[in-house]
Amino acid sequence: MNYANIKTCDIANGVGVRTSLFVSGCTHHCPGCFNAPAQDFRYGKPFTRETEDFLLAELGKTYVAGLTLLGGEPFEPENQRALLPFVRRVRTECPGKTVWAFSGYTWEELTGESRAHCEVTDALVSLVDVLVDGEFVEAQKDISLRFRGSANQRLIDVPASLRERAIIPWNG
Ligand code: SF4
Repeated sequence: MNYANIKTCDIANGVGVRTSLFVSGCTHHCPGCFNAPAQDFRYGKPFTRETEDFLLAELGKTYVAGLTLLGGEPFEPENQRALLPFVRRVRTECPGKTVWAFSGYTWEELTGESRAHCEVTDALVSLVDVLVDGEFVEAQKDISLRFRGSANQRLIDVPASLRERAIIPWNG
């Protein structure tokens, strides 16, 4: 997996100060994409053990609330396979930090049959606290929305939704 960018003091993509990883590669091709170069899986730099170590050190800082995964598309199957071991490390080595993920895939696609769902999807979804789901739809763009670009996207409380087997909105 390649990644397009890392932001170490991101306050726009989740609650609190966040360490944000923008992975490369996305097959949604939304018109008006906010990060079009990152649609290319070869864009950016290789995501290595050193990258993981850097992110874990950032997450260890007391003022950092947690990790945010964005793209590109973190839930393209090839990206999921690279992210799962890393997010497992985050859960083990950074207790108390939250994990947010932004995906162009919907909750239904990630938890059911779809081109995004692969052998690691259930495990990766189960490590996320808040999922912002769905493609960016330019016709529904609304800059007043918190943590979302368009009104079709949802903020989902992942642990509650898995427990209840229904979409439970995140209420902050
Ligand atoms: S899902 Fe995100 S990165 Fe992918 S094309 Fe749509 S806006 Fe761009």
